[in-house]
Amino acid sequence: MRKKLIAANWKMYKTVEQAREFVAAFLPEARHHHRDEIVLCPAYVAISAVAEAVRGSALGVGGQDMFWEKEGAYTGAVSASMLRSAGCTHVIIGHSERRQYFGETDDTVNRKLKAALAAGLKPIVCVGEVLQEREAGLTDDILRLQCGIALRDISGAQAAGLVMAYEPVWAIGTGKTATPEIAVQAHQVLRAEAAKALGDNAANHMRILYGGSVKPENASALMSQPEIDGALVGGASLDPKSFLAIVKY
Ligand code: PEP
Repeated sequence: MRKKLIAANWKMYKTVEQAREFVAAFLPEARHHHRDEIVLCPAYVAISAVAEAVRGSALGVGGQDMFWEKEGAYTGAVSASMLRSAGCTHVIIGHSERRQYFGETDDTVNRKLKAALAAGLKPIVCVGEVLQEREAGLTDDILRLQCGIALRDISGAQAAGLVMAYEPVWAIGTGKTATPEIAVQAHQVLRAEAAKALGDNAANHMRILYGGSVKPENASALMSQPEIDGALVGGASLDPKSFLAIVKY
């Protein structure tokens, strides 16, 4: 049995104070929730404050991106070890908004993934098709391609802790959610592709989250699928009550 992981992606929302307020409201209710792993991913500047506020609880903290180099003259970038030292256990890599607005490619996802694993972070690697690709019947091909390149030159042993997130781009922030059937089908394609790269054992241990307009109203239909190992939640994770309702699906 894979323990489900429910991660909040706060994107470019919440100041340090607002992040602290969220944790103050959320933690008393979430502290004793051990069924699933819960991770909060604030903006870089709020990571330390959130890590401090959740200390002593089972909640994890994640970055929303990172750079693959260890250090150097890379203005504006943040390394895996910097995330670790700020209190991160996880990092999101290859989110579609990074691909759309910041030039992220499958190749840079692969480089970041290797650096995250080497630094002991649990990466949450996002893949997913855009609407035109789905309408053209290309979804499975796109998922195989993105997954294959992301996992290139990574062994099953190195991939311990790796998490993948199926995030159909047409469902992110749009209010349109993939049906459980669509998500399950995509997860099966991803797990089969991961098995080719990492071997059956590592692929079977890898959690595959669904992300794309997860809300309190649709969380339980999605999460009750054994092939869906959790959720990456954007908009509905910004409010502690709504994220709590998802966590307690
Ligand atoms: C996300 O940011 O990964 C996401 C899935 O966003 P939303 O839940 O708002 O669709």
